[in-house]
Amino acid sequence: MISKTGCKNAGSNSGKEINTTAPNSIGTEDYEGLIREAIRTQLRCPICGVLDDLEFEHLSQLQYQVLHHDSVSRSIVLSAGFCAFHFRRFRKIATSQTSARLLHDLCEAWASNSLPSNSDCVLCSANAHHENFLVEALVGLLREDRFRQTFEESIGLCLAHHRSVESGTKNEKLIHFLRETQQKQFKRLSDNLHTLGSKRFFDASKQERAAEPDAIEKFVGRKALGA
Ligand SMILES: [Zn+2]
Ligand SMILES: [Zn+2]
Repeated sequence: MISKTGCKNAGSNSGKEINTTAPNSIGTEDYEGLIREAIRTQLRCPICGVLDDLEFEHLSQLQYQVLHHDSVSRSIVLSAGFCAFHFRRFRKIATSQTSARLLHDLCEAWASNSLPSNSDCVLCSANAHHENFLVEALVGLLREDRFRQTFEESIGLCLAHHRSVESGTKNEKLIHFLRETQQKQFKRLSDNLHTLGSKRFFDASKQERAAEPDAIEKFVGRKALGA
């Protein structure tokens, strides 16, 4: 069963241990469905939007499992914890009891010098896995006329994902469409920002007000959310 954010096993905080340190297994069609939904409902880069949802789901599972299953905490400790970005995200979502438990185990490992010298953040690894499939799914969807139109009218891709999607295809027509669309979307933002800068914020339209966060999203994507 796929949840609204697409994760199998989502909401499985029932106590049953699941492999939370590996990416959730999602079918190709599900990635397409998630992209379609994101472009329709989220006013942001669709790949960043889906990744954030999947990551939140993964983090929710991790923070529960850390407290209830030693093996999950052990797997994270063996990876030397998370990267800086995901440590902060974990801290935000986890209770102080969960956070203390994981940090205690990590400190213990450092104290006994038993951490691996090379490690990968489990959440970064899962994101990289999902990202590849999402890029592939978007390239497939952009073959549909109707989807291309919806994509064009949306905020489109952040710069990083624009580059990933462009390198994910050899189709010259698609590459041309992506570049042209990116330029159109930036021009739309530029026009709205110009108007926004010339009037009081409260006199600005919804679209003009949105241009500010949208431009930041376009430049830095999900990283704009901070941690
Ligand atoms: Zn993005
Ligand atoms: Zn990470």
